[in-house]
Amino acid sequence: MLTRQQNKEILSKSDKIVITTHHKPDGDALGSSLGLYHWLKDAGHHVNVIVSSDFPAFLDWLPGRDEVLIYPDQPELCQQLVQEAALIFCLDYNAFSRTNVMEQILREAPGKKYMIDHHLDPEGFDDYRLWDSSAAATAQLIFNFIEDCVDQVSEITPTIATCLYAGIMTDTGSFRFRSTTEEVHQIIAKLIRSGARNWEIHESIYNSSTENRLKFLGHCLLNRLQVIPEYNTALFAVAKQDLEQFQVTTGDTEGLVNYALSIKGIRLAALIIDRTELIKLSLRSIGDVPCNEIARKHFNGGGHFNAAGGSAEGDLKSVVDRFKMMLPEYTEILTK
Ligand code: 5GP
Ligand code: MN
Repeated sequence: MLTRQQNKEILSKSDKIVITTHHKPDGDALGSSLGLYHWLKDAGHHVNVIVSSDFPAFLDWLPGRDEVLIYPDQPELCQQLVQEAALIFCLDYNAFSRTNVMEQILREAPGKKYMIDHHLDPEGFDDYRLWDSSAAATAQLIFNFIEDCVDQVSEITPTIATCLYAGIMTDTGSFRFRSTTEEVHQIIAKLIRSGARNWEIHESIYNSSTENRLKFLGHCLLNRLQVIPEYNTALFAVAKQDLEQFQVTTGDTEGLVNYALSIKGIRLAALIIDRTELIKLSLRSIGDVPCNEIARKHFNGGGHFNAAGGSAEGDLKSVVDRFKMMLPEYTEILTK
């Protein structure tokens, strides 16, 4: 971590700032970006959040959401802002490929890159970093960053607290993953003290499904779940037609993979979806089953130890077969 003085100097030299995060931003990506955005804006910086795609409807209520620029909607403006930025924050990712269509312009941007992230194996593009793979969420690191920089805790406004709370809540599965340490709970307590209305945030994120989303969930549970008991593994294989039938939109599949993991005895769960251009995989595990290694070695991806993702070419069935065929490699870990 840089010192308070170093951070203050970096910020004081940076009038124009851009905040970026990974493709298809999740709650932590957007919560940490908007939390930092509000804090920098309150401090008088000229700052923009630019993302490479749309994001789940259940994040539509986040304060500042309407000010987020979506790159494909306004490519020229976004390119100009990235080019002119003295400082570019890279939040919740550590490889430029995770920013999809923004990869090239970020690589070529002259501004300094400040990476704040909790994923393994940083690519190394950054000029400054706040990186901790044991952190529960990037929003937790943003809290640390702000707390370290500010002279008065009152600078964490209810708006900032709300964004950071949403980030930590979503990345910890509502404070139940192993990453949810005592420190995380202490930060959460401070965010509530700063004005985060925890019950409203839970309500906004978890009670905002459409009827279609619930029916899609029912369909997957009944018709798309496969259990492979000999490897303590379960998966959902979701076809393109399923997505069309239930008009599935960004975010509707979020959390689905956890249902497969919730079966007693299951140690590895996969959600394999036909996204037309590619087959996308989400992996989740319990204990010492290395999702990130499986994603990296077999599906051109990566992530955290117990939650990772990747993609593959081919049709759905062939990717499902490939997934099943690599399981024997992990027999010992999966069955012990
Ligand atoms: P999800 O399954 O929710 O899409 O992603 C779970 C975790 O895996 C996230 O932390 C995300 O950063 C990582 N991840 C998902 N897809 C990919 C991918 O295609 N490449 C890499 N490197 N990481 C991924
Ligand atoms: Mn995260």
